[in-house]
Amino acid sequence: MIPARISLTWVVYSNEHESKSSMRILCALLLLFALQGQLTPRPPQLASATVLAFRNVTVIDMTGAPPRRGMTVVISRNRITALGTTGSVRIPQTAQVIDAQGKFLIPGLWDMHVHLSKERTPLPMFIANGITGVRSMGGRPEELYQWREQVASEKLVGPRIVTCGPVVDGPKPANPDHAIAVVTEAEGRQAVRSLKRSGADFVKVYDGLSRAAYLAVADEAKKQNMPFAGHVPIAVTSFEAADAGQRSFEHLGNILRSSSTLEPEMIEQRVNAVVKPSNKPNDFTSIPVRIAARTKIELETYSERKAKQLFARFVKNGTWQVPTLATKRSLALVDEGHFFDDAHMKYIPPSQREEWKPENNFFLKYRTPEFIEVRKKLYEKELQLVGAMRRAGVSFMAGTDVPGAYTYPGFSLHDELALFVQAGFTPMEALQSATRNPAMFLGELESSGTIERGKLANLVLLDADPLADISNTKRIDAVILNGRYLPKEALQKMLSEVEAAASRS
Ligand SMILES: [Zn+2]
Repeated sequence: MIPARISLTWVVYSNEHESKSSMRILCALLLLFALQGQLTPRPPQLASATVLAFRNVTVIDMTGAPPRRGMTVVISRNRITALGTTGSVRIPQTAQVIDAQGKFLIPGLWDMHVHLSKERTPLPMFIANGITGVRSMGGRPEELYQWREQVASEKLVGPRIVTCGPVVDGPKPANPDHAIAVVTEAEGRQAVRSLKRSGADFVKVYDGLSRAAYLAVADEAKKQNMPFAGHVPIAVTSFEAADAGQRSFEHLGNILRSSSTLEPEMIEQRVNAVVKPSNKPNDFTSIPVRIAARTKIELETYSERKAKQLFARFVKNGTWQVPTLATKRSLALVDEGHFFDDAHMKYIPPSQREEWKPENNFFLKYRTPEFIEVRKKLYEKELQLVGAMRRAGVSFMAGTDVPGAYTYPGFSLHDELALFVQAGFTPMEALQSATRNPAMFLGELESSGTIERGKLANLVLLDADPLADISNTKRIDAVILNGRYLPKEALQKMLSEVEAAASRS
């Protein structure tokens, strides 16, 4: 937020153009004073009227209420200050008025599962796609904390960032550079406390944690009032994770396995496999074979009764699901080929495009025909699971897992919403998974997530009705970022810059 002092100084300065030069000098001095107080003004390209008004717009407020046509929405600084039918709401004289006849206003979107880095996820790509908030699920912690602060103080144009610190994993972390390796329960508790001290917003748990260490992390997180979320470790069932208070499951973690009648045997086998040293180190060719075999068993021993019990447990515990279908789809269907000429590829640097190629991608390069076949079946089953959980009343949030193979910062969130609809959500429910639900999850529904008076002005103006067709969320006319109006041209410019940078790299 821009400090009030600075904005006031700017207003005084710009309104005094008729006055004597001494007044100008005074104002300039005031500005200088404010600057010396280590306050940074907003970059000039973002300067905009402090009062904005949209007239004749259709508001889809995401409270669940039906859309309201012919509305006026007034935004002062970064808040929605008035909202009502056009004509009934007073528009301040100083307002920049935008006639939004035929357009649709929704809250700013959240992508609740991203991996941010300077090289791979330019923040303007999110903004240009209407994403005004992201939950960062792992990366270089110092860089992420710095970005979080820079965005919050408007030194950097980007979505609001909520981030974990280093991921809490088992003795051999999957990503050792950005993980805390935890063996004992005491180490698990210590990890939670250190994350809290370092400023992480939540704890991300990961595959390799032992059951005992995981439960210690869960208990300590509760004591420290730190939410914990992430992968459900191999050694833990989905029932246990839900009961332990894990706030969100990523990638439908262990849900299929926990719906299998053979889960106890499968856990034993996998936990032992982790402990036993392999005969051939760095032999990855056997991984897809093992995954295919185990997925096949999970699919064949799926118990609807057990699944229903599990879904009820999620509802009872308020456990959220972030299935990351956009990434699952590209990993499952990559051999069908249509990902390679995606129009958004121009935003991706050549080095990353190389890494994405199935022949180079770690998750794909050793795949076997059986693996490809079983992955497709798994993906279909996962779409069904998402639909079944929704019918059972489980809560969902949209997240993409960008920048995994053939997913695009910002753009892929719109694919995720469409995949939710494909899985059986109404367009309204899909939209709520990226607006109201993240605000609820973060405990911020008081100030964001819906379009209501007093809420933060993070909004997206659409050219077409997203409730009639979810793909209309891509038809963005403008984004309002913390009260700043960014029309289509500004968004297009952001994307052009990303494209130019990608071609130079
Ligand atoms: Zn991820």
